[in-house]
Amino acid sequence: MKLINKTIDQCLNRSGGAYKGYLSPKIPKQFTIPIIEEVNNRIESIPGFIDRRLKRDIPGLSFEKPLIISGEITRGIAGEKIAAQFKEMGAEPTSQVVSSNKFSEIEGILETSLKRFAGLEFDCEISSSHFDQKYGAVKCGEKRYDIVYGVGGGSVIDVAKYVAYKLNLPFVSIPTSLANDGFASPFSVINLGQDGTMTLCANTPLAVVVDIDLVKSEDPGYRRRIRSGIGDLLSNLTAVLDWQLADQKNKERYESFSGFQAICGAQLVINELQTDRDLFYDDHFLEILACSLIASAESMSRYGSSRPASGFEHKLYHAYNELTDFQPKATHGELVAVGALCSSYAHGKYQDILRQAYTNAGLPVSSKDLNDCGIDREFLLRSISAATKVKPERYTILEDRGVEDLLAAVHAAYPG
Ligand SMILES: [Zn+2]
Repeated sequence: MKLINKTIDQCLNRSGGAYKGYLSPKIPKQFTIPIIEEVNNRIESIPGFIDRRLKRDIPGLSFEKPLIISGEITRGIAGEKIAAQFKEMGAEPTSQVVSSNKFSEIEGILETSLKRFAGLEFDCEISSSHFDQKYGAVKCGEKRYDIVYGVGGGSVIDVAKYVAYKLNLPFVSIPTSLANDGFASPFSVINLGQDGTMTLCANTPLAVVVDIDLVKSEDPGYRRRIRSGIGDLLSNLTAVLDWQLADQKNKERYESFSGFQAICGAQLVINELQTDRDLFYDDHFLEILACSLIASAESMSRYGSSRPASGFEHKLYHAYNELTDFQPKATHGELVAVGALCSSYAHGKYQDILRQAYTNAGLPVSSKDLNDCGIDREFLLRSISAATKVKPERYTILEDRGVEDLLAAVHAAYPG
């Protein structure tokens, strides 16, 4: 049945002209890393740039009915401009604004995205959790669009990426924030209502284009977003230590290139953080950070799971998130950075390097800092035992050493 549905899906969209003889709407799954990864500033026209690159690399592939998903603010920053550029190129763009990463936003867009056979659905194939099974069915039928653009911060990108996945359409990621590596990853963080906020499988973006000018901002949350991106990136150091530990214990084989790819950017950013410049508005630094976050996401796409960039520190984040009813005051990047410093103490590696880098970046290195970014110390301690229930099959320092040792590591990293 799956095969029949898929064939119908592909035939409909091929005869509809959307794919112009190129293989099928299945292209999102035919590559494991983005075809285009570009970090630049002052890109004249992003749709024009992507069109030229696709024509060069995949002759015959072009898109004429883009769906552009942005947020209230990011529509003005870039969404409208991109829609206008598409029109100049003769395409028929449709714009949608989303205000959160709630699943209802995705359903609303899907409602208007299919012309026929909206009832035909099949289960997603790369499901790893029962939430993927429950929410991830791909919609079959003739589509109104042939590509999905996400233009905005984390929530907008998550929604757009998941819409593209559900419609089995290629996805272009244009982030206006570097607060974590999600803008280039094959996962979406979605608020599933009573099921809480979960990370679901989606497709790897066809293209990731970071325009540094769209990222830089004068708004009050800007520095915190950059700091959070640094935190998410540096946490790969301990994620990879966990992966290597799992390999030593014959739990999961370590793949050296994916591991290297996940951490090489962290080393570069640590070097940059030793300079005296104000890095947060420095184009060169922002380019390094953006490329490093793309490399981090690409390591996950390449390996096929979040393993290269997610160890104990991400389990701790998920546990803390749940304890706070999915409304933590701290960002993802801040929480995983805190988890990574604790993990570094448990591993006995990187403690001083991370502490110095955090100090330079403004990430938490003391109990007072935890407080300042809204991390409740009691909840943090409770998260350690709660983290044993998060992805228990993924072997990390927590499974290796146990709750008591990790509690001691928290006290060592953040003396109360
Ligand atoms: Zn992360």
